[in-house]
Amino acid sequence: MAAGGDPFARARAIMVAEQLVRRGIGSPQVLEAMGRVPRHLFVDESLAAHAYEDRPLTIGHGQTISQPYIVALMTEALELKPGDRVLEIGGGCGYQSAVLAGLCARVYTVERVPALFELCRATLTRLGVRNVTLRLGDGASGWPEEAPFDAVLVAAASRSVPEALRSSLDYGGRLVMPVGEQTEQLLCLYTRGADGKVSRRTLAACRFVPLVRDPRPPAR
Ligand code: SAH
Repeated sequence: MAAGGDPFARARAIMVAEQLVRRGIGSPQVLEAMGRVPRHLFVDESLAAHAYEDRPLTIGHGQTISQPYIVALMTEALELKPGDRVLEIGGGCGYQSAVLAGLCARVYTVERVPALFELCRATLTRLGVRNVTLRLGDGASGWPEEAPFDAVLVAAASRSVPEALRSSLDYGGRLVMPVGEQTEQLLCLYTRGADGKVSRRTLAACRFVPLVRDPRPPAR
């Protein structure tokens, strides 16, 4: 999108400088991606003026788009390379998907709420993001047909990493996910070494919506 015609270009640049750089996000690629993706086009028009504020915003259906800093922190932790294939659970409005899509070869996004799945697809299409493949369903069971992945990003919290997601991580892969109870969660980074062993590091305290484990996705 041409910066000249974007009324939010300045707000976005300020967001990058004050919320991301100042808090320690150092990856030039992540900063560039977040400086480019028009976050205001992923939220309801009535919230566009708030899109670059330092907080999460509602996207309807009881769900939220994460605070910009948390999106940046999770993305940076994945250390994406241009050829990487990434699995994202909880596509929501598609903002995080668009940021990831600018940093890797392909993003596979699973979303369980039909209206958000449609919104995600529509916005990504409108913005010309072509390297995101979407699936409607329960992401806790992963995407076995496309596994293994170089990186996995889970945007909803659970007490532990679902086994299907852990096992879909390639050797050398990274998985970032909020782990814990409803009110007390830690954003954790899991890394699978070349020997297959998985190690864990805590990045921050956080508060995400729960990873819903339902036998059947909600009706359309
Ligand atoms: N990253 C998103 C925000 C995610 S909010 C964005 O940028 O907008 C968390 C999302 O996870 C919600 O959209 C919710 O519907 C979805 N979700 C929760 N449990 C899920 C599951 N089991 N499978 C797939 N998506 C799930």
